[in-house]
Amino acid sequence: MVKVQDGQCGMCAHFGAHNPSDSQQLVQIRVRGEAPEDMLEPCAHPSHEGLHLKVGVLGGCDGFKAVG
Ligand code: SF4
Repeated sequence: MVKVQDGQCGMCAHFGAHNPSDSQQLVQIRVRGEAPEDMLEPCAHPSHEGLHLKVGVLGGCDGFKAVG
C-alpha cells in the first residue's frame, strides 16, 4: 500500500468514476488515504475520456477535482 495525497489521482473524483464495480474500493482509498501501489483506473476527465487514459493512484494533472 502507498499513501495517497490530495491532488493525486487516487483522491480525484475522475479516478475510476465510470467503473462502478470499483466504487467501494475507491471510497476506502479516499477515507484511508492509502491504496494498492499498482492500482490503475480509467480517468473520466472530459479531456482524457476519449483517449481511454488509465492512471495510477499516485499520478496527477491540473484537472484534479476533489470528491464531494
Ligand atoms: S489524470 Fe487528472 S483528472 Fe484524471 S484522475 Fe488523475 S488527477 Fe484526476
